[in-house]
Amino acid sequence: MVNAVTLIPAREHDRQLISKVEKEAGTSINLCYQCGKCTAGCPAAFAMDYPPRQIIRLLQLNLVDQALEAGSIWICASCDTCSTRCPRGVDIAALMDAMRREALYQGKITDKKVAAFNKAFLNGVRNFGKAYEAGLLMQYNLTTGQLLKDAGLGLPMMKRGKVSMIPHSIKGKDEIKKIFDRAKQLGGE
Ligand code: SF4
Ligand code: SF4
Repeated sequence: MVNAVTLIPAREHDRQLISKVEKEAGTSINLCYQCGKCTAGCPAAFAMDYPPRQIIRLLQLNLVDQALEAGSIWICASCDTCSTRCPRGVDIAALMDAMRREALYQGKITDKKVAAFNKAFLNGVRNFGKAYEAGLLMQYNLTTGQLLKDAGLGLPMMKRGKVSMIPHSIKGKDEIKKIFDRAKQLGGE
């Protein structure tokens, strides 16, 4: 029997890209035997254009551009269910994360709002060592052009002490900043 993977000639560039993503995720797509357990347990699969099993299949078929342009990688909630359930130990959640970073790096962002949220969240962690909810919402609303989005929810949450306008830092925030700087030196965003 001929393996379908061999029927599609891979460009060297695609192979290198897949190896890069695998290395960053610390996993191998070749371990996957397409059982579908990851998709069956994924709480976000219903909203994805390619559920987790198919994302792995695209990579196995060297269709890396198609995988990077999939909305699925932005819909993935990083819940880790797929990685936990996989009988072959494929870390699909880490692959999704590595592909998000690669898509950002290549400017292939199919869901700009999710990318804006991702950036705003990481900015808070970089600056304060932890999430800064009010800053996140302000940056997200500004960059997505919806200035008053969720404004009605903000005040009651502040009154109840759930959200603070003043950012709080953690002790080791300088160490966290160094991790971000190092990631940037290594080609990250
Ligand atoms: S659960 Fe693992 S082996 Fe099964 S399809 Fe998903 S990645 Fe492949
Ligand atoms: S980590 Fe992402 S792909 Fe995996 S189960 Fe959770 S939402 Fe689905």
